[in-house]
Amino acid sequence: MICLPFLCSFGILIPKFGEKGMFYMAYVINSECISCGACEGECTVSAISEGDDRYVIDAELCIDCGSCASVCPVEAPNPA
Ligand code: SF4
Ligand code: SF4
Repeated sequence: MICLPFLCSFGILIPKFGEKGMFYMAYVINSECISCGACEGECTVSAISEGDDRYVIDAELCIDCGSCASVCPVEAPNPA
């Protein structure tokens, strides 16, 4: 009987780790971007798109995985 409330609370907490804005910090692409496009295909949540003068990251979609930073030749994507 004592464990039941604990298990219920634990079950509720797990999805909250996936909520954007609570545990994820979006990456941001800085002005070093040379618009090579290498990062766009690496993003599994399609958060990266071509902007006016550089590629940009949608903060609502970014899950903070760092894949874009790992392929960027100029280290333009960085944690916000
Ligand atoms: Fe996409 Fe990951 Fe880069 Fe965020 S950190 S933009 S999820 S590749
Ligand atoms: Fe810009 Fe780097 Fe992405 Fe290329 S990989 S588009 S330089 S942020």
